[in-house]
Amino acid sequence: MNYWTIGESIVDRAAPGGPIETRWERRQFSARLVNPANRRKLTVIVVGTGLAGGSAAATLAEAGYRVRSFCYQDSPRRAHSIAAQGGINAAKNYRNDGDSVHRLFYDTVKGGDFRARESNVYRLAQVSANIIDQCVAQGVPFAREYGGLLDNRSFGGTQVSRTFYARGQTGQQLLLGAYQALERQIAAGNVELHARHEMLELIVVDGRARGIVVRDLVTGEISTQFADAVVLASGGYGNVFFLSTNAKGCNVTATWRAHRQGALFANPCYTQIHPTCIPESGTHQSKLTLMSESLRNDGRVWVPVRAGDDRPPLLVPEGERDYYLERTYPAFGNLVPRDIASRAAKNVCDEGRGVGPGGLGVYLDFADAIARLGRAAVAEKYGNLFEMYERITGENPYVTPMRIYPAVHYTMGGLWVDYDLQSNIPGLFVIGEANFSDHGANRLGASALMQGLADGYFVLPNTINDYLAAGPFAAVSAQDPAVLAARSGVQRRIAALLAVDGDRTVDSFHRELGHLMWEYCGMERTHEGLTKAISLIQALREEFWTRVKVPGTGEQLNQNLERAGRVADFFELAELMCIDALHRAESCGGHFRAESQTPDGEALRHDDEFSYVAAWEYGETPILHKEALEFTYVQPSQRSYK
Ligand SMILES: Cc1cc2nc3c(=O)[nH]c(=O)nc-3n(C[C@H](O)[C@H](O)[C@H](O)COP(=O)(O)OP(=O)(O)OC[C@H]3O[C@@H](n4cnc5c(N)ncnc54)[C@H](O)[C@@H]3O)c2cc1C
Repeated sequence: MNYWTIGESIVDRAAPGGPIETRWERRQFSARLVNPANRRKLTVIVVGTGLAGGSAAATLAEAGYRVRSFCYQDSPRRAHSIAAQGGINAAKNYRNDGDSVHRLFYDTVKGGDFRARESNVYRLAQVSANIIDQCVAQGVPFAREYGGLLDNRSFGGTQVSRTFYARGQTGQQLLLGAYQALERQIAAGNVELHARHEMLELIVVDGRARGIVVRDLVTGEISTQFADAVVLASGGYGNVFFLSTNAKGCNVTATWRAHRQGALFANPCYTQIHPTCIPESGTHQSKLTLMSESLRNDGRVWVPVRAGDDRPPLLVPEGERDYYLERTYPAFGNLVPRDIASRAAKNVCDEGRGVGPGGLGVYLDFADAIARLGRAAVAEKYGNLFEMYERITGENPYVTPMRIYPAVHYTMGGLWVDYDLQSNIPGLFVIGEANFSDHGANRLGASALMQGLADGYFVLPNTINDYLAAGPFAAVSAQDPAVLAARSGVQRRIAALLAVDGDRTVDSFHRELGHLMWEYCGMERTHEGLTKAISLIQALREEFWTRVKVPGTGEQLNQNLERAGRVADFFELAELMCIDALHRAESCGGHFRAESQTPDGEALRHDDEFSYVAAWEYGETPILHKEALEFTYVQPSQRSYK
């Protein structure tokens, strides 16, 4: 059976050539500008108010554009970014420990297992330092050392301390910074905020993105919204797995609808499984909780040496403990990247050495740190995380080691964008976790916040000018056939979901889909498992459309209806994820194909065949477009953290 066809190769035409150090500067110079008086005549829709969308909307409005901002929560402050705990990277080298723009660039390209674009990653490293200055100027309360300087800690995949943090609430503090900048622009009349509105379709007129169809989640009213350009900052799609560390509302609808309108979807199978989450406790559970990677700075990961050893952790003597990360990866120890730490945890559990219920857990132990630094110092750094752990598990991590297990956390895949963050649909820009851009096959910790804010505060506000300089574009008529089609498509779909009137809840389908994805497209994938998953997903999707029960109507607040639409899109995405994972017959980063591993069980890439971005075009049979990746400054090698 042909699961996909091959289309034409694509290239990123926006990226300048020449020395990598000056590419961003040269692109900024070559991009056309829009004079301040003309900016007032141009409107930009920004979908999403997380770190990417909030910072972009505030910055574009500050620059003088008219911005229309949309989110489905009741306040921009509730975007999923608020959950980010551990920190944000920046190449400031405050510790004088050998950090530099080049080292952050190098770590990120290597951490992404050589599946990211060099140009984008270099720019990210360059801009990283500006982000910290911007946020400090806004008053973001980053942790400081006794002398008043900003403090840093380490995250996985690096040997320097470059992660800026605000206790275990970095995302919250950064989002409050972006939010207050956004609020200022709302108060100034430059941003029109539409909270509790969900984008359900993209409007493409004459080949350009010109608007969106939204549903007012309180009244159910469907409306069309127009602009000169559309920015999607709608976050990631980890919830396709049902259980994940993401906020329950995170979904793929905005980007999936754009994909169906022609936007390429890149590397959908690249999913990040985070090694330190609270293990699942039962089948009733609807969400998993992250324990920040920052904990691996001081916590030591171990399991008993002997399989089946079920003694309580404090009764396992030191000599009978296996600190397997320190043993296998002495250079990076507990701070190996996430993909490696996750697989290592899975391996020791597969060997029967896992701890806790079902043997699906490993210990993260702070006894040494408490003995070395004192309990108060540990509480100062991680207190809120310890408290959260205790509230959920009933165990006190100051006394008993935490139990942790890998869980779905982040999606490196997303809509394909060029160096300007523009998709292949002119006028459609995609930023933050919603695009595929900078992390390759594996994202290093503390780099999502960096990318979201780089995109929103610095990159997009420069590159979008080049597109808008050709505007304002002719006004879009509400009667335009493309607008009418988009709007009636949304109405038909809502009616279809309500009309099924079956006997199974939306959540029961979502849970089953998530289980399939975790089983066959999770931490380890095989050809056989993926082909099986594709047919199981197709069958479940058919069942969804004949048995789902959506109570209530479309003319009211109806969260079942909201969820049903999102799950319907997850079904389509899930199939594409499996197809993408199937076609990529290599292991790289978060994509581990069991058939492709080194003798000691590490991911084995096949650069000769797969050194490209897989950008998928929507179709009955998806069409694969390859964008070749070139490495001039960092030579691909077998990743080693030993
Ligand atoms: C528990 C947890 C901890 C994390 N900790 C860290 C960390 O310490 N460091 C780090 O770098 N990264 C961390 N991450 C990752 C990081 O938080 C996210 O990748 C990042 O915040 C995503 O930001 P975003 O702006 O792209 O999207 P989001 O914050 O997810 O925002 C999406 C926005 O889009 C809106 N939206 C979505 N769909 C629609 C639609 N159809 N219509 C209208 N609006 C829509 C939502 O309302 C929301 O406003 C963490 C992630 C998790 C889950």
